[in-house]
Amino acid sequence: MLAAGSDGEIEPLIGRATRVIDLRGRLASPGLYDAHLHLLPVGLAMAELDVRPRQAPTLAALLAKIRDSAAAARPGAWVTARGYDQSRLDVQRHPTRHELDEAAPENPVHLVRCCGHVSIVNSAALRIAQVDESTSAPAGGVIEKRDGRLTGLFAESARDRIRAVLPAVTDADLVAAIERAGRHCLSFGITSVMDAAVGSKAGFREIAAYRTARATGRLPVRVNQCLLGGPGGIVDRAYAEGLVTGAGDDRLSVGPVKIFTDGSAGARTAAMSAPYLGEPANQGLLCLAPQELSALVRDYHARGYQLAIHAIGDRAIDQVLDAYALALDDAADADRRHRIEHCSFVRPDQIARMAGLSVHPVPQPVFIHEYGELYRAVVGAERTAASHPMRSWIEAGLRPAASTDGPVSGIEPFPNLYAMLARRSSAGTLLGAAQALTMPEALAAYTAHGAYVNRAERHRGRLLPGLAADVAVFSRDLLAASPEEVLEDTLCDLTLLGGEIVHDRLGEAGARVAPHQLRSMPSSRHAIAK
Ligand SMILES: [Zn+2]
Repeated sequence: MLAAGSDGEIEPLIGRATRVIDLRGRLASPGLYDAHLHLLPVGLAMAELDVRPRQAPTLAALLAKIRDSAAAARPGAWVTARGYDQSRLDVQRHPTRHELDEAAPENPVHLVRCCGHVSIVNSAALRIAQVDESTSAPAGGVIEKRDGRLTGLFAESARDRIRAVLPAVTDADLVAAIERAGRHCLSFGITSVMDAAVGSKAGFREIAAYRTARATGRLPVRVNQCLLGGPGGIVDRAYAEGLVTGAGDDRLSVGPVKIFTDGSAGARTAAMSAPYLGEPANQGLLCLAPQELSALVRDYHARGYQLAIHAIGDRAIDQVLDAYALALDDAADADRRHRIEHCSFVRPDQIARMAGLSVHPVPQPVFIHEYGELYRAVVGAERTAASHPMRSWIEAGLRPAASTDGPVSGIEPFPNLYAMLARRSSAGTLLGAAQALTMPEALAAYTAHGAYVNRAERHRGRLLPGLAADVAVFSRDLLAASPEEVLEDTLCDLTLLGGEIVHDRLGEAGARVAPHQLRSMPSSRHAIAK
């Protein structure tokens, strides 16, 4: 970016070759930084048939989508659909194997529930998986039968029987997924992301896929790669290849190492210091013993990695802070910026400790909106209202970075902004009004803070001369919009990455603009109008 300022400051810089885009009162913000999503899995999921409630509200609609998809596929090719929720289908039950058979007699069908823990398959898929009425379910799994006949429903570990016969994800699939998800990001004004667990789907092949995408012009967004650590991770191989935090460039870089310490609140597996409602003996689960976590953290810290540790419950957050304190004691580094991913049910004393250690949270405020009612049911209204404490973090001097955890949530930024502004569940319940942010604060969480926790603040996150010209223009003036307008009636009109127009919803920019022609972008809602 060459210059930013008021109309009066910018006008003298406009030359004959300058293309001036009149924003007509719309807000231009720095390109958004989704600080924790799973880009590759988002792209892989996009290749599957979308049967979420909005796309397929009735059983007939769902089956019609499967029928169309099967008709377009060659015989024998798998049809994979994802996202149904039987409680939101008109029939209030799971689809059955026989209904899928009618829709797709020649093709194996794999239909996955929105939670990802339940699958329905048809008879062709059962044949390929060699499952019949005599097959017994593995421990921790369900193969459902009714009147002695298979219904096609598989749950939890029994799904491994199906997964084992699904077509393998090829390298070409991975690159296509990166490109598909990256373009999807640009359509929402998201110009930078951290892929929150590179290596979780296809191991080290994901590193190669990112490099190939980059080398072949198929990496539409800037990606910071968070490497999957711990047993089964890819860090040792990455380290051997010189891939330590900070390697790479402004388009594709190596970020922190990911470690998991607990589960999720909705599944009552996040590690809490107080029990879940109605289950006095259940305080969730820790994945690692304190010494195990601390040994991993010390090792990665000593090798120069930033860390991004998944911790949702306060008991897990305690464990992470202890491990960070030990590692920083061993080898002090005032600017390592270790992170806590999710950091959802954090206590005030832990916020103070985070500030002392310069450990920053990367939460998903949108979970308040999407899962607020579920949280109330599992941990009660008080703990829910105190969760995701955006304002308390900011007041403690921390930089909470907004993110969606896509594909867990959709990557659309508007529900996330809404949750930061309004703190309301999808049912309208107000959850912790004291933690609500103003729009400038919410945008900072989605831009400058994202850049900071990903160590890119010298390059992007703000509209300043010398920083990258990554810009998002929304369909209204967000600074004057109500939270409801942001949630329900806002789109991204224009996205620039490095000064190039990469998304133009209305076609208003006409021909492509060369970077040198973008002499300036407005630093506020004031358009350069001529
Ligand atoms: Zn995640």
